[in-house]
Amino acid sequence: MNNEYRVLLYYKYANIENPEEFRDEHLKYCKELGVLGRILVSKEGINGTLSGTVEQTNQYMEDFKKDPRFSDTMFKIDEASEHAFEKIFVRAKKELVNLSLEDDVNPLEITGNYLKPKEFLDAMVDPNTVVIDARNDYEYDLGHFRGAVRPDIKNFRELPDWIRENKEILEDKKILTYCTGGVRCEKFSGWLKKEGYEDVNQLHGGIATYGKDEDTKGMLWDGMMYVFDNRISVPINQHEHVVVGKDYFDGTPQERYINCANPECNKQILTSKENEDKYLGACSHECRIHPRNRYVIREKLSNEEVERRLRLINNTKMS
Ligand SMILES: [Zn+2]
Repeated sequence: MNNEYRVLLYYKYANIENPEEFRDEHLKYCKELGVLGRILVSKEGINGTLSGTVEQTNQYMEDFKKDPRFSDTMFKIDEASEHAFEKIFVRAKKELVNLSLEDDVNPLEITGNYLKPKEFLDAMVDPNTVVIDARNDYEYDLGHFRGAVRPDIKNFRELPDWIRENKEILEDKKILTYCTGGVRCEKFSGWLKKEGYEDVNQLHGGIATYGKDEDTKGMLWDGMMYVFDNRISVPINQHEHVVVGKDYFDGTPQERYINCANPECNKQILTSKENEDKYLGACSHECRIHPRNRYVIREKLSNEEVERRLRLINNTKMS
């Protein structure tokens, strides 16, 4: 691999008085610099992931840290052979991550204890610990810490309700929580403390940091880590690779992600190229026959061919 590019992942909770003004200036700066990616700005801070050449990303990190509010920002850096994004977006949002709380949590005021990767690993193997994945179900399904609890949620904002409905799993336990880069856990662990849980801990720097850490080298991580860029997934565990992903259609081990070809569905599904072809790239019959099915359009399938494959699916079901 020709590692001339890098992908950066970072966040910083800090007071940003005027997110709209910050957005405009930052977008202009990013365009001039030539980096691509997605950056969210809100009154409570900034959260971004972007790609660029080694030179561009170095410049970005140097400039970013010049702002006293962001001087101790932790950047997670991945080597890459090309850009991981097609465009640059900088957006102003009400919150960095949305938990849909009546009383929002400010991680600058309340958040869980930060654990370094090795501390997290040691705590994880303690039997009196419960490990909660603070990400979405499709992220968990591709890879997660061995034994971690999988909240049955499609979106981060559903997490508080899910915890309240399943509180028995947390009772009298040391709570560990983790997410991709750490931004979600800052808020989630703060919310847990507000809910009255005492021993609440978060993986500092997230899975991205854990995978590169010299002491852990990603130990006890199974599968791949879902990322929100063109790469879709990255490896974490440097000791072993245990596949946990399962093909959406036949349940066989699988780590290849596609989005359902129905542009109105877009559901993330793990599946082989073979099953993608067989099922017209779509998660359900309704999505398969959607008039704007992207798979059918991309593959330039005739109506006869679509009909033929639909019959084939029906036949497999009956056999
Ligand atoms: Zn679908």
